[in-house]
Amino acid sequence: MNVLGNTRVLGVFGHPIAHSLSPVMHNAAIRALNIDFIYVPFHVMPENLGKAVEGIRAMEIAGVNVTIPHKEHVIGYLDEVSRYSMQIQSVNTIVNVDGCLRGDTTDGPGFLRSAEAEWGKLNGCKTLIIGAGGSAKAVAFALAEIGCEITIANRTRERAVELAGCLGQVFEAGKFRVTELNGQALSEGLSGVDLVVNTTSVGMHPDVDGIPIPPELLRPNLLVYELVYNPARTRLVTEAERRGARALTGLKMLVYQGALSFEMWTGLEAPIDVMEQAIQAIGNRQ
Ligand code: NAP
Repeated sequence: MNVLGNTRVLGVFGHPIAHSLSPVMHNAAIRALNIDFIYVPFHVMPENLGKAVEGIRAMEIAGVNVTIPHKEHVIGYLDEVSRYSMQIQSVNTIVNVDGCLRGDTTDGPGFLRSAEAEWGKLNGCKTLIIGAGGSAKAVAFALAEIGCEITIANRTRERAVELAGCLGQVFEAGKFRVTELNGQALSEGLSGVDLVVNTTSVGMHPDVDGIPIPPELLRPNLLVYELVYNPARTRLVTEAERRGARALTGLKMLVYQGALSFEMWTGLEAPIDVMEQAIQAIGNRQ
């Protein structure tokens, strides 16, 4: 990679940031397209977020990703924020257009685009979302936008109720339900469901034996989307496939959300396969 005087800078703001796979994925895409950009990690402490955003303008950084814990707070520092980001109160991509900082989020669209690339259109499908945190909100709003009926099950029931309420305010009320996160309720909640999405951290390293729903509830014809990407194949994914369900891993969403950010900054079609291979290669080395 040749960094020259007019090389344009992209990056990611987060705390912590050392674990981020985004630099690997984006620099692989930059190399593959042979364009004059570089993508770097920036360790930004919460108390420095405002100054860091000002730095995007001051140093004419072309754009950045924003990750934990800044996705919500960064909204207050931007000039424009997309409708979808305002709805879910989350920004993961900032584009610098001549000093005007525009915020958007590619988490939900990345989830949807990756799922539809693999499984075809999901319009109107009946979905069970497990979890009610930040990623659940992004996924739920993306699915609600295409007319899906959504049931939410979360360890802390009040958060599920709150998320269903937010969805009901924006989309057709009556399409969003809450159920308990236990075997009996999930078994009933799963009847007629086409798609299950795990947005909890259950199953994430080091809790690799964790599974968010009893495995015996998984069945053929079910689509299972696992957001956790560390490990690359969680117990949920293995159990789902063992029982004849089709499963996608969190790696897909990670790559597609990155690809959509990349397209916003460069205006070029992202080399998705290259980005995915770059992340897989890192996973194989670790
Ligand atoms: P978050 O906002 O902190 O939400 C965490 C969710 O997990 C909450 O619903 C929480 O329930 C639930 N949870 C945590 N521990 C649990 C347990 N032991 N049993 C049952 N539920 C539990 O986190 P997030 O940002 O949504 O991220 C969640 C997961 O998705 C993480 O593993 C993250 O790496 C992954 N993720 C992947 C991608 C991707 O691109 N693939 C993108 C975003 C996130 P309570 O409300 O009860 O606390």
